[in-house]
Amino acid sequence: MARTGNKNIQAKLVLLGDMGTGKTSLVLRFVTGKFLEYQESTIGAAFFTQVLSLNEATIKFDIWDTAGQERYHSLAPMYYRGAAAAVVVYDITSMDSFLRAKKWVLEVQRQANPTLIMFLAGNKADLEDKRKVGSEEGEQYAKENGLVFLETSAKTAQNVNELFYEIAKKLAKAS
Ligand code: GDP
Ligand code: MG
Repeated sequence: MARTGNKNIQAKLVLLGDMGTGKTSLVLRFVTGKFLEYQESTIGAAFFTQVLSLNEATIKFDIWDTAGQERYHSLAPMYYRGAAAAVVVYDITSMDSFLRAKKWVLEVQRQANPTLIMFLAGNKADLEDKRKVGSEEGEQYAKENGLVFLETSAKTAQNVNELFYEIAKKLAKAS
């Protein structure tokens, strides 16, 4: 395949959302292809890199996986300022985590770079029997706020690569 005009893009990506929603699990699924039932809580933030190749561009992600606890909240701007993309994660089995996700969206919209591309991920989509947040609710909120929305499962890998491909495609388009 012709690769004329192939761009190399380095992009800072930040994951935000309540503790326990699966941020680390999503990143590890994307970076290592694996899932752990007993994922240790992130302290402060963790850093990962991953390269994704599209036809039109190669994206090198610098991923900041934040902790999500209230006591680390004051650190969050350090991670989302200067980020090209953010993924706000909630857990479909927790209405609280969805409400917190909305707060993150507002905060980032107010304070981050206006060109930042934001995604909303309703994670743990494998736990359908424990669902508390309807797909339509997530979808509707995302639509109203100009976010790309996906329901994901770090456990089954549902929509995980799709999420990062969507991010890469949007970044390639914007660059
Ligand atoms: P974080 O605090 O947002 O980084 O969340 P973690 O990645 O540490 O995950 C918290 C817990 O939820 C861990 O026990 C994970 O194994 C579990 N978990 C994460 N993603 C999923 C998922 O998609 N489905 C299910 N069933 N459990 C998940
Ligand atoms: Mg974590």
